[in-house]
Amino acid sequence: MNGKAPSLLVTGGSRGIGAAVCRLAGARGYRVAVNYVSDEQAAERVVADIKAAGGEAFAVAGDVGREADILAVFEEIDRRFGRLDALVNNAGVVDRMARVDEISLDRLERMFRINVTGSFLCAREAVRRMSTRHGGQGGAIVNLSSAAARLGSPGWYVDYAASKAAVETMTKGLALEVAAEKVRVNAVRPGIIDTDIHASGGEPDRVAQVRDALPMKREGTADEVARGILWLLSDEASYTTGTVLDITGGR
Ligand code: NAP
Repeated sequence: MNGKAPSLLVTGGSRGIGAAVCRLAGARGYRVAVNYVSDEQAAERVVADIKAAGGEAFAVAGDVGREADILAVFEEIDRRFGRLDALVNNAGVVDRMARVDEISLDRLERMFRINVTGSFLCAREAVRRMSTRHGGQGGAIVNLSSAAARLGSPGWYVDYAASKAAVETMTKGLALEVAAEKVRVNAVRPGIIDTDIHASGGEPDRVAQVRDALPMKREGTADEVARGILWLLSDEASYTTGTVLDITGGR
């Protein structure tokens, strides 16, 4: 890795699972680019925590639903770090509970623009920097899917579930495209994890409501998901690509 600490971009690194990935990666020696879309203070808190622990990090604003923002985020990483070794395609959104027969075009387009198109464009920019085909030194990408991709989320948000299924198919296809170019691509499939995402979908009590129906009778933590992601990024997972790791407590 050129003797320098590896560099990592986490989209949506300001809160929830992304923030947990940033903090753990910082502690494990990655130089971390903490992307956020609106909560600058949260992103700066993550950066401050990483620096306080002796690591290197910076916050970078950018909406993964906008190509121009994505290009600017990657250019900032080029300037600051000089290269990119790892990407976690974490930024993602849900929406209000709704059946398919209630879903608007605006909602569908937003969901797919952020969750699917954003993940594709970030992966594209990462591969252009990592792949030996483009003169890179290799790298690793982890995409955030969801148990929803398996379950379909009827009555909750089938559109979200379908967007995550698209992320899984992208993971498989891209992994095979770049397997011989020193880039590994995997995904994680979290179950119910205690973050702000449920409140952002209008269901602040969701975790408490479903807890008893979960196999372990508890939700997962962002740290538990982060540990799986860090493993997939690491050389410990050097022969693992194109796979999806369930972190669902058996759900
Ligand atoms: P969260 O707590 O709602 O945090 C979302 C993060 O993404 C924030 O840092 C937010 O930035 C950022 N973000 C949102 N829209 C963005 C955009 N357009 N561009 C850039 N950043 C954006 O979410 P989470 O629960 O940690 O979820 C992270 C990922 O895991 C998502 O892909 C989600 O679908 C997936 N997941 C979560 C669960 C769960 O139960 N929590 C389960 C399965 C899968 P700001 O702070 O600036 O708003």
